[in-house]
Amino acid sequence: MSTMMPEQIMTQAEKLCLQRGVRLTTQRAEVLRLMAEQQGSISAYDLLDQLRVSEPQAKPPTVYRALDFLLEQGFIHRVESNNSYVVCHHFEAPAHTSVMLVCDNCAAVTEQQAQGVEKIITSLASQAKFTLRHTVIEAHGLCVKCAEVDACDQHDHCDHDHQVEPKRRGRKS
Ligand SMILES: [Zn+2]
Ligand SMILES: [Zn+2]
Ligand SMILES: [Zn+2]
Repeated sequence: MSTMMPEQIMTQAEKLCLQRGVRLTTQRAEVLRLMAEQQGSISAYDLLDQLRVSEPQAKPPTVYRALDFLLEQGFIHRVESNNSYVVCHHFEAPAHTSVMLVCDNCAAVTEQQAQGVEKIITSLASQAKFTLRHTVIEAHGLCVKCAEVDACDQHDHCDHDHQVEPKRRGRKS
């Protein structure tokens, strides 16, 4: 799966909005740009903080309206299990089912397209006469960087920062 650069994401989003006849307003574009520059997923409130740098008057509804639009257009995904949002890296393929690999330590999210999974869920739904609207598959664990730090037992001789308190964002206790 290819990963798009922030500029590619913006160009592609602008093109699709034009094709679909929907407006990518300055605010919507700014929220998407902030998200495109994120490493992992980001919560609506962290987004609001970042948006306020350029738009000091921005309020939570500003962000939520922009997020709703971006979700509708399929430019971003919601990471349900930690209540955050992440840019989709192949939004030219609409209505795809992805598996979100969520790092519990640093909240990095990797999206992997899941062709086979989609078939299984569609067939399970039709067996149950269930009308499928939207599917989210999330798997939790450690990203490659965090797994390396986690497995390290050479704390005195390595370059890792073992002092950093894991963020463990969105963990429900
Ligand atoms: Zn996606
Ligand atoms: Zn991680
Ligand atoms: Zn180490």
